[in-house]
Amino acid sequence: MVQDLLVIGTGISGLTFAIKVAEENSKCTITLISKNDINEGNTRYAQGGIAVVRNLKKDSTEKHIKDTLLAGDEGCDPDVVKFVVEEANLRLDELIKWGTAFDKKKEKLHLAMEGGHSENRIVHYKDQTGKQIQEVLTAKVKTFPNITILENHTLVDLITDHHSKTKGNRCYGAYVISQEEEKIIKISSKITVLSTGGAGSLYAYSTNPSIATGDGLGAAYRAKVQLEGLPFVQFHPTALRDKVNGNVFLITEAVRGAGGKLHNTQHEEFLLNEDPRGALAPRDIVARGIQKQIQKQKEKFVWLDGSSIPKTIWKSRFPNIYKTCSSIGIQLPQDPIPVVPAAHYFCGGIKVNQYSESQLKGLYAIGECSATGLHGANRLASNSLLEALVFAHRAAMDCLKSLQKPLPDNAFYKALPEWDGEGYSKNNTLEDVQTLREKLQEIMTDSVGIFKTNKSLKQAEEKINDIYGKVQQLYHQNELTNGLCELRNLVSIAYLITKQSQEIKENRGVFYNHDYA
Ligand SMILES: Cc1cc2nc3c(=O)[nH]c(=O)nc-3n(C[C@H](O)[C@H](O)[C@H](O)COP(=O)(O)OP(=O)(O)OC[C@H]3O[C@@H](n4cnc5c(N)ncnc54)[C@H](O)[C@@H]3O)c2cc1C
Repeated sequence: MVQDLLVIGTGISGLTFAIKVAEENSKCTITLISKNDINEGNTRYAQGGIAVVRNLKKDSTEKHIKDTLLAGDEGCDPDVVKFVVEEANLRLDELIKWGTAFDKKKEKLHLAMEGGHSENRIVHYKDQTGKQIQEVLTAKVKTFPNITILENHTLVDLITDHHSKTKGNRCYGAYVISQEEEKIIKISSKITVLSTGGAGSLYAYSTNPSIATGDGLGAAYRAKVQLEGLPFVQFHPTALRDKVNGNVFLITEAVRGAGGKLHNTQHEEFLLNEDPRGALAPRDIVARGIQKQIQKQKEKFVWLDGSSIPKTIWKSRFPNIYKTCSSIGIQLPQDPIPVVPAAHYFCGGIKVNQYSESQLKGLYAIGECSATGLHGANRLASNSLLEALVFAHRAAMDCLKSLQKPLPDNAFYKALPEWDGEGYSKNNTLEDVQTLREKLQEIMTDSVGIFKTNKSLKQAEEKINDIYGKVQQLYHQNELTNGLCELRNLVSIAYLITKQSQEIKENRGVFYNHDYA
């Protein structure tokens, strides 16, 4: 099939993009694919909300810009920060128009406080903002007859001039596993959009679902597209220590915004020694403070004390956290919550321009897999859903224009070669793949985590190279599986993070190497 647009990923960025294009042009053919069911991805787990300047009596775009630049630690692109903050209200109003509900107080949107923000500006739906957005967008995207949705389809590689044996620098679609048909299919497209999310699964402890394996980043890297800022991996300071149903459960920053305090096991507010803002300092400072404290004490966690937050607020504002904690015997507000930092967000990614186009013509990247210049060295809380909305809009408008320009004819796309690599199988090599994935996670957690040293990075590089060799062997000797595809991407991203980390000679934002302290 030849499509006008192939969108790979169905979180907030991919769905918003597809809806915007379809609303503007009902003739444009769009195929939307997701690796799992349409709703699985980082978006549906977002708790806190979206940062938007709404209360103009107290807040201003200047303040939001300043907070973003401060958190980004001189790594942000100021022009990008400015237009993202300024376009926030338009994008939020659209989301509301499409049916997304946000909490209100006296008819006005309730604005919560989060770390690093100088004013209350987080628009949210209880502690399940992401789920609310995901469900509304999923329902809306299904109403457009020109959008074809393919769930359980996995991106393997992008199609470029390398495959068509032409000279140029363009993307022509992707090779994709159809999990149901158990084969690799070609989807040719005039424009391809990566909205594949992050790669938290590189670490043993992550708030991301297990499908967050950096597949878009891996495919872009193999297509020789520039990736930047990969070492800037943000760790969320407060994930529940105990996994719930095998998953890491996040305790949103908004709990600290509502009065939650962080204590060590001696009941001291240890973070005040690191920063006068204590538990409400930006995430990098809080995560490092907690990790340092954990390394000092016997217990491998710290306490999040929410006893000053009334039970009624827990139940109305944080019902999911209240219910989840209660299910494992933590009674709020009186019981403190044991928390640890967990890998959470990729500030870096595929380098894009102000309309989200990458350096490969016809390839756009939006959402967490992109590096737009908004986050710099450290993302400000609740700025990523906002970034996804703003750049999905900009990319959609740009793609509509690009489709009017001269492009190869349909015969060219039809003549693109079918996948000529290994075939697809459901489950061979599964055991090796799982063992190697766990080894990789251990290396990244121990040596390329919150704290790094030159020595730990060098050692990690050697071990990752070793795993890379084994993955290449598996790739060439076996049929592809989903798991092998994921591992192939994870090992590439691990290698790039470790390599790029060794090039950074100063500590900035979330990046911390003891040798430069
Ligand atoms: C627990 C948690 C809480 C968060 N809270 C907030 C918050 O309060 N505010 C905020 O601003 N941000 C928050 N974030 C971050 C934010 O949710 C994400 O950055 C954002 O949702 C990413 O959206 P996305 O569209 O880029 O990708 P995702 O929502 O992650 O979607 C990725 C999509 O790509 C698809 N995909 C991946 N690989 C492939 C492949 N190989 N083939 C086909 N499809 C593929 C997946 O199936 C999925 O559809 C949170 C994140 C987490 C994990």
